Amino acid sequence: MKTLVITERDESDIRLGSLSAIGFAQSLPASVVDTLCVADVCGVNPTADAHAAVIAAAVRQHSYELVVAAATTYAKDVVGRTAGLCGGSMASDVIGHRFDGEQLLLDRPMFAGAVTATVILNNSPRFITVRAAAYNPVDISSVNSLSSLDTASLDVDYSDVPSAQWKSLASRASHRPDVTEAKIVVSGGRAFKSSEDFERLVGGLADGLGGATGSSRALVDAGITPNDLQVGQTGKIVAPDIYIALGISGAVQHLAGMKNSKTIIAVNTDPDAPIFSVADFGLVGDVYEVVPQLIAELNG
Ligand SMILES: Cc1cc2nc3c(=O)[nH]c(=O)nc-3n(C[C@H](O)[C@H](O)[C@H](O)COP(=O)(O)OP(=O)(O)OC[C@H]3O[C@@H](n4cnc5c(N)ncnc54)[C@H](O)[C@@H]3O)c2cc1C
Repeated sequence: MKTLVITERDESDIRLGSLSAIGFAQSLPASVVDTLCVADVCGVNPTADAHAAVIAAAVRQHSYELVVAAATTYAKDVVGRTAGLCGGSMASDVIGHRFDGEQLLLDRPMFAGAVTATVILNNSPRFITVRAAAYNPVDISSVNSLSSLDTASLDVDYSDVPSAQWKSLASRASHRPDVTEAKIVVSGGRAFKSSEDFERLVGGLADGLGGATGSSRALVDAGITPNDLQVGQTGKIVAPDIYIALGISGAVQHLAGMKNSKTIIAVNTDPDAPIFSVADFGLVGDVYEVVPQLIAELNG
């Protein structure tokens, strides 16, 4: 199956989720990485429509049968559009796969993870996004060696691309790792009354542990935390080694984004909070009392 893997980079390197997408692609029979596709995007607005046009051009010009990417916010925006442009079939957020004879069976969660559907993609080209936590990332050194591969230029016609245009771009600098890539995630919920409290307590504990911060939707809706920290069904899906839920009740929509974490620790004043049903360690207590003690302990 001729396969294209879409990778994402941050300032320094290929992102961890993309390494998992490559891991998935390499687990398929006869997968060989041989070419890097390069498109000239000078003067093109880097909108999802434009990115989809570039990827569709790569698929058409190189006759790719399968396109794989990590199930990230970027991929949610771009890969479905590309499948539409190519008239292909798509499965998103795949968490497992197997073969039935020649047929590739893909498992993907539905209804906030309440059920897992097994799907078959009938139309080629096939588009698959995989949940990064479900697949082992390949070693970064094996990917960095790709820079020595042949490069294939793409001929992209941008005239059909809808003319949405970036007016400006503001990015929120953070010294913390991305919530989807961190091994430790400290998340805060409605218990926190202000951005300052969140930063001092959730941020302080995350920094002490070298982790990322996450948030329930309640805090995002209240304007206390930014949108990109939201964990859950309509936020980011995470599966870190350790997930610490501070003052989060454990609504099913939040659990959908973090219940596959390896170890879950919860602090909540309510001993009956649903979060305790998925927690490996639980502490009934007030985050305003418990968290400063944890931070003080970590700071020695
Ligand atoms: C379609 C849809 C999609 C959604 N998507 C998401 C999503 O992606 N992510 C998400 O998180 N939610 C999502 N939600 C919202 C979700 O249903 C819950 O409303 C939300 O998760 C609740 O956030 P919370 O746990 O912070 O707040 P609450 O449910 O209000 O819980 C606050 C918890 O804090 C505890 N507490 C209060 N004070 C303290 C204290 N001082 N110390 C310790 N504990 C304390 C309380 O006992 C309580 O358990 C979605 C809802 C819908 C309908």
